[in-house]
Amino acid sequence: MIESPLLTHLAGYSGGQWQDSSGTRNFEVFNPANGEVIARVAAMNADEVEQAIRSGCSALRLSQPYSIEARQRWLEEIRDALTAHREELGRILCSEHGKPLPEACGEVDYAAGFFDYCARHIGALESHALAERPRGCSWTVHYRPVGVVGLITPWNFPIGMIAKKLSAALAAGCPSVIKPASETPLTMIALFTLLDEHTSLPPGMVNLVMGKASMIGQVLCESPEVPMLSFTGSTEVGRRLLVDTALQVKKLALELGGNAPFIVFDDADLEAAADNLMANKFRGGGQTCVCANRIFVHDRVMARFSELLAQRVSALTVGDGMNEGVDIGPLINKAGFDKVRRHVSDALALGGTLIAGPDPGSLDNVGLFYPPTVVSGVTRDMACFREETFGPLVPLVSFSSEDEVVAAGNDTEFGLAAYVFSADPERAQRVTAALRFGHVGWNTGTGPAPEAPFGGMKASGIGREGGLEGLFEFVEPQTVPRGD
Ligand code: ADP
Repeated sequence: MIESPLLTHLAGYSGGQWQDSSGTRNFEVFNPANGEVIARVAAMNADEVEQAIRSGCSALRLSQPYSIEARQRWLEEIRDALTAHREELGRILCSEHGKPLPEACGEVDYAAGFFDYCARHIGALESHALAERPRGCSWTVHYRPVGVVGLITPWNFPIGMIAKKLSAALAAGCPSVIKPASETPLTMIALFTLLDEHTSLPPGMVNLVMGKASMIGQVLCESPEVPMLSFTGSTEVGRRLLVDTALQVKKLALELGGNAPFIVFDDADLEAAADNLMANKFRGGGQTCVCANRIFVHDRVMARFSELLAQRVSALTVGDGMNEGVDIGPLINKAGFDKVRRHVSDALALGGTLIAGPDPGSLDNVGLFYPPTVVSGVTRDMACFREETFGPLVPLVSFSSEDEVVAAGNDTEFGLAAYVFSADPERAQRVTAALRFGHVGWNTGTGPAPEAPFGGMKASGIGREGGLEGLFEFVEPQTVPRGD
C-alpha cells in the first residue's frame, strides 16, 4: 500500500469536506510495474455525485462574482502548492501510472505552468466597453462563468490534464465536479489534499467524484445544474457524451483520440528528426494522444532513417519507473499491452519487417513491459496505420511525393497532432496548411504548452485548452447595450 501525507483520505471531496463515509464500495488501484494493489478508494453512488453538484451550485456566485484578484490568488496558490510538492506528487503519479519518476515530476511542473499562465493572463477576462456606439447605446461585454462544470480526465496525464481544465475553470469563476480515471485517482486525491490545505478556495468550488464512470457520466450529462462538460479521453466516450447531452444543448469541450502522422522529407536533418521522434514517441511509454502513430519517411532516406532509429531504440531501458535510468515504464494495463502486441503481430503478418524489438510471440512473461519496437513496410491496411497504438511501436511507412504523403497523413478521422520534418520552408508551410490537424510541429516533435491553444480537428475534438483560447472556454460572453 502506498503511504503519503497527501493520501490520508482515499475518498471523494465535496462542499469542502472529504467524503470518507464508511460503508461505501471501494475500488482498487494498481501499480502497473508489479501488479500490486497500492490503494483502495471509496466509490461514490449517484446521490453523492448529485450532492457534489449541489455543492458546486452553492459556490457559484453570479450577482456578486469572485473578483479577478481572488481568482488570480487561487491560481497562484495552486501553482505554488504543486511546485512545493512536486517530488511527492511525482512519486504518487509514478506509482499508479508507471511513467519514469523524472517524467512524472516534469508533468507536475507542466501542470503548475497552466495555473501560472492563467494567473498571468486572467486580465483578459475583465469586462470591457466597446469603443463604438452601435444603435446609439454604450456597450459592455462581460465574461460570465458558464456555471458548475464537469471535468472528466484520463489516466495518461493524471495531473497534466486536470491542470488544463481546472486552471481555466477557476479563472472563469466556475465551480467544478471532477472525475479522474479509475486507473489513476491517487494523484487527483493528492491534488485535492493540496487544494484543501493550501488554498483559499471557497467550499464547493472544487469537488471530487469517483466510482462507476458510466453512472457518473450519466448524472453529469442529465443534471440541468451542469451546463458544460470538459472531457479528455477516447473518441468513443466523447461521442457518447455528445449524444447524451444533445437534448439539453450542453456545452462540451472534448479532447479525443489522435493518429498523429510524423513526416520526414528527404531534405530533413535526419539525426534531428530521429532524436525528436524518440522524445515524442516514447513519452509516457507511447501512451499519449500526441505521440507519433504513423511515421512517413521519404523512400530515398528510409534506409538511413531506419538505421538511426534502430540504434536509438535499442539503447532504451525499460523498467519500473521508480528506478534510475529507466526510459520507458510499463503500459497501464493488460488491455493496453495486448493492443500493442496485436498491432505488431498484425503488421508482421501483413508483410511488415521487424527492425528493432522482439518477436511479439515471445512476450508471455514480461508483465506490462512492452519492449520498444520498430516495424518497416507498414501499409494502410494494417491495424497500426488505422488505429492509435498507444504504446511503444514505431511503424514506418514509405512515401515518394508531397501530395501522396499529405493525402496519406490526412487519411484518418482524427486531427490532433502532426509533425513535418523538412529543411524547405515553403514545402513545410504548404504541407502544414494542408494537414487537418490542430497542432503541427515543424522540425520538432514537441507537444502542447500552457501558453498555446491545443486541440483537435475532425473526430479529435471540440475546443481548445491552453493559451487565451483555453482561458475563454469556461466563460459565456454577456453583452450589455445600455440605452441612456
Ligand atoms: P481511455 O481509453 O483513455 O481509458 P476513456 O474514454 O475510457 O479513455 O476514459 C477517459 C475518462 O472517461 C476516464 O475518467 C473514464 O473513467 C471516463 N469515462 C469512461 N466512460 C465514461 C462514460 N460513459 N461517461 C463519462 N465518463 C466516462
